[in-house]
Amino acid sequence: MTEKTIYESMVERGLSRRDFLKLATLMTAALGLEYSQLPKVVHAMESKPRLPVIWLEFQDCAGCSEALTRSHDPYLTKLLFNDISVDYHETLFAAAGKQAEENKEKIMDEYEGQFVLVVEGSIPTKDNGVYCTIGGRSAIDLLEEAASKAMAIISVGTCASYGGLPHANPNPTGAVGVHDLVKDKPIIHVPGCPPIPEVITNTIAHVVLLGEIPELDSLGRPKAFYGQTVHDRCPRRPFYERGQFAESYDDAGAKAGWCLYKLGCKGPTTYSACATIKWNEGVSFPVQSNHPCLGCTEPDFWDGGGFYKSLAAPPGAEAARGAQAGFASLGGAALAVGSALYAKKVKQKAAEEFKAQKKKEA
Ligand code: SF4
Ligand code: SF4
Repeated sequence: MTEKTIYESMVERGLSRRDFLKLATLMTAALGLEYSQLPKVVHAMESKPRLPVIWLEFQDCAGCSEALTRSHDPYLTKLLFNDISVDYHETLFAAAGKQAEENKEKIMDEYEGQFVLVVEGSIPTKDNGVYCTIGGRSAIDLLEEAASKAMAIISVGTCASYGGLPHANPNPTGAVGVHDLVKDKPIIHVPGCPPIPEVITNTIAHVVLLGEIPELDSLGRPKAFYGQTVHDRCPRRPFYERGQFAESYDDAGAKAGWCLYKLGCKGPTTYSACATIKWNEGVSFPVQSNHPCLGCTEPDFWDGGGFYKSLAAPPGAEAARGAQAGFASLGGAALAVGSALYAKKVKQKAAEEFKAQKKKEA
């Protein structure tokens, strides 16, 4: 076991106490914790030793690893690589071959029950797992060995979480997610294709720093980052509420920022922080850049109903639906007439605005 705590390792690298406290404060916010949790984070960093992270990569495109290297949070990235220590990562590792494998074995034995295992990629199970082997061993074998010694597992990306693209019909390799094979360890899902870089780093930092599992939703995803749908925080939401939907990618509505629901947006059923944290240093995210959300953080991504097909019949105005729901509970005929008229009015207004946009464009 390494003796140095995270704080001591920082001091050794020349950070002052003031820098440390500043970092701890930023960390608290980044982990999605309330400010009152700052002493807990400070205490953890002062008292806990550096814990190793072993990152295994199986059947994937390496996009999640690439996302990790694109994290724009300099504090967290430095913390992760300099002070927390990603000790084994096949893609980012300088070492290779026998030396790398020996190092992994050594860490797993020395830190048994204490290291965090990160898995990227799905695990092919058909034909004894022959479709993904590393160093002559199947992914199933490598996963079982590492999982049995790990403290907890973080499945990074939709492939490791649910099988992802390799699992898509007809799933020729029998690809599955980690939780399909490992049943006796805490598993945190960080789905996305790829996940938002900061969501990866923050989740790993949470487990390694605090030594605990963050609060999870029913699908095993950290609530701090998967607690709301893309739709909940979407900048196009006001148009959805008013029943204003783009009909094609280059029509007047699309150019005016109208809702992409009819173009197949899965934002209403997709839990992700895309609309808040965004991508590329918070510059934008797909829906903001005029592309519908494809639902990449959900278990049925790829096979779940087609990418560019609308979820269901496009909704009427949300407000009007709310009014109709109100009618159901009140049973007032007058209110029913009122809500129907209101819905009609909203739709008429939307149609008028759309026509005006088109006219302006022409
Ligand atoms: S574009 Fe998608 S996420 Fe945004 S409001 Fe419309 S349906 Fe919701
Ligand atoms: S907008 Fe939707 S499909 Fe796109 S990255 Fe975010 S969650 Fe995935």
